[in-house]
Amino acid sequence: MKEAVNIFWFRRDLRLEDNNGFYEALKSDKPVLPIFIFDEDILSKLPKDDARVSFIHKNLQKMQEKLKKENNTSIAIFHGTPKDIFKQLTKDFTIVNVFTNRDYEPYALSRDTEIESLLKTQNIEFKTFKDQVIFEQNEIVKKDGTAYKVYTPFSRVWLDGFKRQGIVFFPSETLLDNTLKSSSIQNLSLKDIGFKEANVKIAPYIVNPTLIADYEATRNFPAKDTTSKLGPHLRFGTVSVRKMVNEASKQKNITFLKELIWREFFTQILWHFPHTAKDSFKPKYDRIEWRNNEVEFIAWCDGKTGYPLVDAGMRQLNETGFMHNRVRMLVGSFLCKHLLIDWRLGEAYFALKLHDYDMSSNIGNWQWVAGSGVDAAPYFRIFNPTTQIDKFDKQHNYIKKWVPDYQELTYPTPIVEHKAARERCLAVYKLAVS
Ligand code: FAD
Repeated sequence: MKEAVNIFWFRRDLRLEDNNGFYEALKSDKPVLPIFIFDEDILSKLPKDDARVSFIHKNLQKMQEKLKKENNTSIAIFHGTPKDIFKQLTKDFTIVNVFTNRDYEPYALSRDTEIESLLKTQNIEFKTFKDQVIFEQNEIVKKDGTAYKVYTPFSRVWLDGFKRQGIVFFPSETLLDNTLKSSSIQNLSLKDIGFKEANVKIAPYIVNPTLIADYEATRNFPAKDTTSKLGPHLRFGTVSVRKMVNEASKQKNITFLKELIWREFFTQILWHFPHTAKDSFKPKYDRIEWRNNEVEFIAWCDGKTGYPLVDAGMRQLNETGFMHNRVRMLVGSFLCKHLLIDWRLGEAYFALKLHDYDMSSNIGNWQWVAGSGVDAAPYFRIFNPTTQIDKFDKQHNYIKKWVPDYQELTYPTPIVEHKAARERCLAVYKLAVS
């Protein structure tokens, strides 16, 4: 007789504690088989030493160790397409329900619809829960039921809602004994999935009362490096967003909390407007005649534009998988406006390189930078890559760190002249959008 189980499918929620869907599964009356699938459809597009894959693998192994030690159970880890893995699982087990946390990206939504219909043919229910955000989908919308397209009113309603409802945690960590005891559960090494350990590691995050209190005063200065590095941890769910929002909301200064609300703003924008993954939110902006000069694009990617703050940002990204937000705005603006290169190319490069890459935040911010998105910077506001240094890196400490050659003769001369590039941009944008 096959054993009757409930499955919990981990995706971007890689933790045993305060995990909503996992908690619901563990409360049920069947033993829970936790699973993770290294999705071939996603992995096949990544370099074999991708730091994010190493990070996922390492965190799964940490979870395995805890389960093994304390409960003598484990997570079943697979490699393949979710559809094939579920087909096999339905043969190996009598599955009653599959529990998982909701993912709002277009690929995830279509994958989940496919899995849900597959399970339905066998009378297995696919149960999904909210976990990666405080408010999702239609929970924060205008009175007429449509989505907020401007951050400020969205954040106001978010904060009101949050004050009203407070935070409810989901103590999944107290029920781990309800996981399935079985000796035949497979684990996989990085090598088994065709990957190797990355040389660059994803940094740990720092969130404490001092960081939150000082955040507003220090966050704009890349040399200070005082931001939390929370991005990848929220992206892969190695920390619970409820825990972070709770910490942030306890402090008097709510600037840090407001950044977490930007993340939710962009999550709901992508969910309401999935076409913005590819198209400009404002359709007129897709009429812009991008130059897309390949040589200039490569110079931008390599941090060799001859503009030291732009180059410092790109070199920090290439070396560490991180770039300070202030500099992300500048390099993005420089690509779209000074070089007239399509924001989609910059977005794709960031997607490949950023450890905290998150589709909704990346697309939301790139469209903001290009002027094509919701609540975006007006197109005629063009960052000056030289005066930005006076404002945000006056002592050149950030530049010196990432572009030590910036005063040497070998350092490239600027690939475009600022004033001419600015005028060209204004003319091209104006033609498309006015
Ligand atoms: P902190 O400054 O400590 O902020 C804490 C958290 O708040 C972040 O980890 C993030 O979850 C959230 N947050 C902060 N700023 C933003 C913002 N503008 N939009 C959305 N969420 C925000 N952020 C991503 O998480 N993934 C991306 O792929 C991404 N791509 C970006 C692309 C461009 C062109 C720009 C201008 C910004 C992008 N950002 C992205 C937003 C922001 O730069 C990063 O979240 C931040 O720099 C990450 O560093 P941190 O974790 O130390 O953040």
